[in-house]
Amino acid sequence: MPGPLPTPVASDVHLPAHCDVVIVGGGIMGACIAHALAERNHKVVVCEKGTFGAEQSSRNLGWVRFTNRKPIELDLMFESLRQWQTLDKRLARLTGYKQCGIVFSEKDEQAMAMRRAWLEHLGPFGLKAQVLSPTRIVDYFPGARYPAVGGIYSPFDGRAEPQLATSAIAESARDKGATLLNHCAVQSIDTAGGRVCGVHTERGYIASSTVVIAGGVWSNLLCRQVGIDYPQLDVKVGAINTTPVSGPDVSFGSSQFALRRRADGGYTVGNYFARADIVPNSFRYATRFAASVRQPDLSLRLGKRFFEELFRRTVKPGRSGPFERQRTLDPELWFDTQAMFNRISEMFPFLATAQIKERWAAHIDVTPDSLPVIDELTAVPGLFMCSGFSGHGFGIAPGAGTLMADLVTGAKPIVDPAAFSLKRFFKN
Ligand SMILES: Cc1cc2nc3c(=O)[nH]c(=O)nc-3n(C[C@H](O)[C@H](O)[C@H](O)COP(=O)(O)OP(=O)(O)OC[C@H]3O[C@@H](n4cnc5c(N)ncnc54)[C@H](O)[C@@H]3O)c2cc1C
Repeated sequence: MPGPLPTPVASDVHLPAHCDVVIVGGGIMGACIAHALAERNHKVVVCEKGTFGAEQSSRNLGWVRFTNRKPIELDLMFESLRQWQTLDKRLARLTGYKQCGIVFSEKDEQAMAMRRAWLEHLGPFGLKAQVLSPTRIVDYFPGARYPAVGGIYSPFDGRAEPQLATSAIAESARDKGATLLNHCAVQSIDTAGGRVCGVHTERGYIASSTVVIAGGVWSNLLCRQVGIDYPQLDVKVGAINTTPVSGPDVSFGSSQFALRRRADGGYTVGNYFARADIVPNSFRYATRFAASVRQPDLSLRLGKRFFEELFRRTVKPGRSGPFERQRTLDPELWFDTQAMFNRISEMFPFLATAQIKERWAAHIDVTPDSLPVIDELTAVPGLFMCSGFSGHGFGIAPGAGTLMADLVTGAKPIVDPAAFSLKRFFKN
């Protein structure tokens, strides 16, 4: 059964010999950065090793969520919410964005108390959520038998369609002058006198004094090639899409699973089972990620990937390497999605007549504090990074793209970027 495919983005044919900014990676971050820079009349080229949006950015649940983010990320997420509301108009294309609200529900009083305490962060933004009793949750999801002690309803949260959004943003960037290249792996970042001067791609050389790494789970490997230590690992997660069925428009989240209605009338459903392959980086960053390893839904596995990565060498310019070998990460599912769906549809009777239409797994890039790096990597002047969104980058992408464009162009940043610096990992 196939996973979800994004709306195809055709590749431009001509490889520019030079440009103002090369963006490595055509996920939602690469698309948003390209769009923000193209709007400022910068000559941008986005190089994507596979096809636009085909890794995490089309495989996510599609939540555009402000609620329960870390306080330090809220200014950026607020800016993103603001942008989503008018994004379709600005792009002249559809992303499927809808402010549908999310009901977060909790099984025990301690978790409920934490949810309630978090609500104090809404005040400065003028947003209001409602605390729900178990019976009020059933008002939103008729017949629901989820064993909740209570919940929160956040009407300002929303959703967008992962199969539409990245493609729409990228195409709009092209309308504004960006060049989009599929099957154009950046093999290595070129430097002269210690600063960026271009990239070697599988289709030829592009000279540029500025390069932005937006490579998702591949960003650590790209950084290593220029001697930058970026502590990032990845975990595998899975999800399903159902056939259309009549049911509520509002999304549902709990500590075990999440669901949201899609524009085609089906639901996207995911749980929080995660699997981490043990790779050489697992040992390199073991102490930094020690807390994450204790997550109850995380399982570890030692397999062939350990040896593949152990022998993965830096590619030589003009020679194919790991980026071309894996055009699109499409990992195998390792848990029984039918059993997961059966359990969830027993609790939500409106799902009873739905069937699983698509199922898939995906790798998520994670950092030790689950916050992204949106920064200029000053060790190599001209090199920037926008990566490490740790499972919640889809909703925050419009703001993150604008912030990255601000840093690249030297404009006043829309939010204080200090929390997203790479050097926060190396303070002691
Ligand atoms: C199952 C699942 C559910 C999720 N749910 C949500 C959600 O509900 N809400 C939310 O906000 N977030 C969610 N996320 C997280 C969100 O999808 C990601 O944070 C976001 O898509 C990251 O975007 P990105 O552009 O950084 O990475 P990606 O989408 O992974 O894009 C990176 C791109 O870079 C390309 N690339 C890498 N190296 C090279 C190279 N050398 N040359 C050229 N191209 C290269 C890759 O091919 C890839 O296309 C979820 C993720 C998953 C997997």
